[in-house]
Amino acid sequence: MRIGIIGAGQLGQMLGFAARDLGMSCTFIDPSPNPPAATCGRVIRAPFDDDDALSALAADCDIVTYEFENVPVEALERIGEQVPVYPPPDALRQAQDRLAEKQLFGSLGISLPAYRPVDSIDDLENAIEAIGLPLVLKTRRLGYDGKGQCVVRHRADIETAWRQLGESELIAEAWVDFDCEVSAIGARNAAGEIIIYPLTQNEHVDGILRVSRAPVDDEMLTRRAEKIMTALLKSLSYVGVLTLELFVVGDQLLANEFAPRVHNSGHWSIEGAIPSQFTSHLIAISNGHLEAPQLRGYAGMLNLIGDIPAAARGIPESHLHDYGKDARPGRKLGHITVIADSAAKRDRLLAEIREKTG
Ligand code: AMP
Repeated sequence: MRIGIIGAGQLGQMLGFAARDLGMSCTFIDPSPNPPAATCGRVIRAPFDDDDALSALAADCDIVTYEFENVPVEALERIGEQVPVYPPPDALRQAQDRLAEKQLFGSLGISLPAYRPVDSIDDLENAIEAIGLPLVLKTRRLGYDGKGQCVVRHRADIETAWRQLGESELIAEAWVDFDCEVSAIGARNAAGEIIIYPLTQNEHVDGILRVSRAPVDDEMLTRRAEKIMTALLKSLSYVGVLTLELFVVGDQLLANEFAPRVHNSGHWSIEGAIPSQFTSHLIAISNGHLEAPQLRGYAGMLNLIGDIPAAARGIPESHLHDYGKDARPGRKLGHITVIADSAAKRDRLLAEIREKTG
């Protein structure tokens, strides 16, 4: 089977490695000169909205998927006339707009932080009246890794925040004093089979994911997340892997956002589960039979951001993934995974690696 992947970053690379094991071949489309996934297949070097290049990709493949969210939905719909495109472009449309995403959560009865659309300073003042302070102001579109958002703590910050975020199409969200952040990763195939990975706890630093730990040993939270995930997958007639990010407040889960793709918080599954999220995505989009993930132990994942220090290499009981990207501050260059037979040992290994890698 030939898989076309829009985007040839590290997610594309990890999909490419999984595809090879499944006997599938991959062709990618990406504008950058030497992207990580170039190690696993042909890369058509072109912008993501280049109709000719997308059409060439579709002509060369049996199924097209994407590894990042800023693909124009209309372009996906156009190639959808040539070849199946999964996850469904409509799921991407909803994920690209925080307002549509929150309305979807609401329509499914999924709890979420209070929010208001903000299209003017007046809207922002009304949102403060309704939600209170502090609140988080976010751009409706194109935000990632904490970019495109700022916390409004005082009324005096209103004008600065409004200007900083581009003065249009924003959303104001209640500040959540969460206990922790978790993500759920699920997959559905066209036949309607669903599998769900165990909950992963995530730690962010400066808005960027730094550490993930799985599984979260909490039966009740796990069941609640599975219920939410199942509702979401079914309502979107979803095909592929979907990631849902949630805030934990006491025994409640509040939905933050979903990504219609494989996700950094599931990288631990390469060594930590059979099958990995990447394998499950490929099986789901090719309408194969989805196997419930079997865990290989307690998994921990540490992102390597900005550089990969020499000390990160060759650490016993750890798996280094070097994406082969040029070093740049704030850039995800690789990750390290550990698998242990207890949560305590996993946490000890993670702490040691964090100490070594800075
Ligand atoms: P997002 O781009 O919405 O995933 O936000 C990036 C990170 O900002 C999240 O992972 C949280 O750590 C933090 N964050 C986002 N929204 C809120 C909120 N309403 N309350 C508290 N923290 C938030």
